[in-house]
Amino acid sequence: MGKKNMQSENIRFFNTLTREKEKFAPIEKGNVRMYTCGPTVYDYIHIGNLRCFLFEDVLKRWLEYRGFQVTQVMNLTDVDDRTIKASRTQGVPIKQHTERFVKAFFEDIDALNIETATYYPKATEHIPEMVALVKKLLEKGYAYRGEDNSVYFAISKFKDYGKLAKIQVNELKAGARVKVDEYAKEEASDFVVWKAWDTDDGDVFWETEIGKGRPGWHIECSAMSMKYLGETFDIHCGGVDNLFPHHENEIAQSEAATGKKFVNYWLHNEHLLVEGKKMAKRLQNYYTLKDLMAKGYDSKAIRYLMMSVHYRQQINFTFDGLEAAKKTLERLTNFVLRSLEADGKSGGDRLTQLIESAQRGFEEAMDDDLNISVALAHLFDFVRDVNNLLNEGMVNKQEGQEIYKLMVKFDKVLGVIGEVKREIKLSKEAEDLIHMREEARKVRDWKSADQIREQLKAMGVVIEDTAEGIRWRIEKQ
Ligand code: AMP
Ligand code: ZN
Repeated sequence: MGKKNMQSENIRFFNTLTREKEKFAPIEKGNVRMYTCGPTVYDYIHIGNLRCFLFEDVLKRWLEYRGFQVTQVMNLTDVDDRTIKASRTQGVPIKQHTERFVKAFFEDIDALNIETATYYPKATEHIPEMVALVKKLLEKGYAYRGEDNSVYFAISKFKDYGKLAKIQVNELKAGARVKVDEYAKEEASDFVVWKAWDTDDGDVFWETEIGKGRPGWHIECSAMSMKYLGETFDIHCGGVDNLFPHHENEIAQSEAATGKKFVNYWLHNEHLLVEGKKMAKRLQNYYTLKDLMAKGYDSKAIRYLMMSVHYRQQINFTFDGLEAAKKTLERLTNFVLRSLEADGKSGGDRLTQLIESAQRGFEEAMDDDLNISVALAHLFDFVRDVNNLLNEGMVNKQEGQEIYKLMVKFDKVLGVIGEVKREIKLSKEAEDLIHMREEARKVRDWKSADQIREQLKAMGVVIEDTAEGIRWRIEKQ
């Protein structure tokens, strides 16, 4: 852990639970435990889902930048209403159906340079934990069995119900029940934690102590998060659409079962929109990452576009935006190359100040609830000012290295620059000479071959004959 990256005392996050920016302090010093609701693997994910995973990636990278160890859990929802419906429609066993999309999910996050989580638990592999939790809720009287044999959570029994979504439970509604996984705030009522098998479930069921059936979606995340992170942990994230009912219900189930606070900080990202509407499968207005890459867009530009907007602001997806992101990245890459090649006079105090203030500005902005737009503004001011110094020949080699190091440091969080290399091309003349030399060597005319080698050398092109063929490099003269 680098000294410079000492855990920050200054990080503040907007906590959905209190609707306020709060100073961040993990339960265990130096270690952060966070749960991020993962994909429902019934189909390919779209770039709206990826916006969510990118925000969580930047959050995790920022905590790591500040010296925290992060344990991140991202679940894979491989059994719920949607996965059952999709696999049955296609006539494929659910496991076979979801495995395809799990694989595609990992390919997508890899292409977007999203760091891997510590654990990716699958719901289907944690049924005993879910059953144990349901049993506990039944024993404590927070859950009851309906006449359909399913088990429901009684929201009237949990006095804090509605504390995340800020809803008042209507007394008259008590006793009303909802069995589907997703519903609106107005429909807040007793929700299902264990669904008794019915014919729509086909061969998807588990024979358990609490009957034949399957878990409700919400209980899955309660059981898996607490298994890997403990009964109380630091951060829970997801898109704003998950705030209700999913996260509200997670809180109710977990806190009712343990009697402890479930999560200290709730962070929710806003949506990626297309023409003013949430990008969503059911609206048919979505792109997958593969769709965009097939159109020739670079995954780094896609990453940049989606992480360059503050996570609590909506992003309207457009191809113009994507083009602009591509140009911005070219600018950054060029800047890194220029700083690596800097060989002028010293920029002195002016440059030292620019480096210091860029770092300070970037860090302060990110500490302030991951204010990426302000952090990037500091970065681009720096790029502009240093480019001016480079134009004047006022950056020496060592300073170039310092600038490069700072950019690498920023990129640990941004993940969009990566390795940079100047593409070096040979002149047509040099290419022709190399070709002539090849021909000479083929007829064992060593004398001409040597002469051409000298000629190339005089042009600054050094030739080496290796077992794999000819290698060349350009030597500065
Ligand atoms: P799902 O697979 O539908 O459970 O979604 C996985 C995650 O993506 C959840 O945290 C959702 O809140 C989030 N999400 C879904 N659609 C969007 C969108 N258009 N923009 C941002 N996040 C989204
Ligand atoms: Zn979840």
